[in-house]
Amino acid sequence: MNNPHQQASEQANEPLRLVFIGPPGSGKGTQAPILKEHYGLAHISTGDLLRLEVSANTDLGREARKYMTEGALVPDQLIIQMIAGVVGGQGFILDGFPRTVNQARKLDEMLGERGLRAVIEFKIEDRLLISRILGRLVHPGSGRSYHVEFHPPRVPMTDDVTGEPLVKRSDDNEEALMNRLAAYHEVTTPVLDYYRQQGILHTVDASDKPEAVWSQIKAALNQ
Ligand code: AMP
Repeated sequence: MNNPHQQASEQANEPLRLVFIGPPGSGKGTQAPILKEHYGLAHISTGDLLRLEVSANTDLGREARKYMTEGALVPDQLIIQMIAGVVGGQGFILDGFPRTVNQARKLDEMLGERGLRAVIEFKIEDRLLISRILGRLVHPGSGRSYHVEFHPPRVPMTDDVTGEPLVKRSDDNEEALMNRLAAYHEVTTPVLDYYRQQGILHTVDASDKPEAVWSQIKAALNQ
C-alpha cells in the first residue's frame, strides 16, 4: 500500500490540468499567460484556435466564422474534433472550453482516469464587461490582451513584447457581445454545476485587479 506522503507527492508531480470558465472579458486571457509561465503549462484557447482556422480559411474556419461573427457558439461536434488533437498528456489550461455540458462530458472521456485538477470560475457582473470588451485590443500571435484605457500598450496599437500590431476582435462589438453573454448564461453556466458536483470548482472574484485574481487562483490551487 502507498504511504500518504508518497500519494501526496505523486499528486504534486501530476501535470496540472486546469479549465478556466468565465464570460467574455472576465480576464481568462490575462491570467492564462501568467499560469502558463509560472507552472509551465500549455495554454489552449479554443477561441484562438478557431481564429487561426478562420484566418487560414480552412473548411473548419469557414464553417466556424458564421457563428463567431454573431457571437453564437460553434457546434459541439466541430469543437470536440478540434480539441481532441491538442489535449495530450502534458499540463494545460483550457481557456474557453468546455462551454456546454456535452463538451464537458466529452472532455472527461478524453482525459479518462487522469482527470482535471481544478476548474476556475471567473465570476463577474455583466455590466462590468461591456467597457472591458469594447476597449479590448489583442495581439493575435500570443493572445495577449490590452485595453485602450485600463491597460494601454506602451506604444499605441503595438504589442509591448514583440512590437507587432494589435487588433480589435471583430466580435468585440456590442451586438455580438450581447449574444456571447446570453450564450454564457444559458448554455455555459450549467457546466459550472457539472464541475461543482465533481468537487473541483473554485470561484474567483474576477472584478478584482489582475494581481489579486492571480493570488486567488494560487490559493485555490494550493488547497
Ligand atoms: P473566445 O475567444 O473564447 O471568446 O471565443 C470566440 C468565439 O469562438 C465564441 O464566441 C464562439 O463562437 C467560438 N468558441 C470558442 N470556444 C468555443 C467552444 N468551446 N464551444 C463553442 N464555440 C466556441
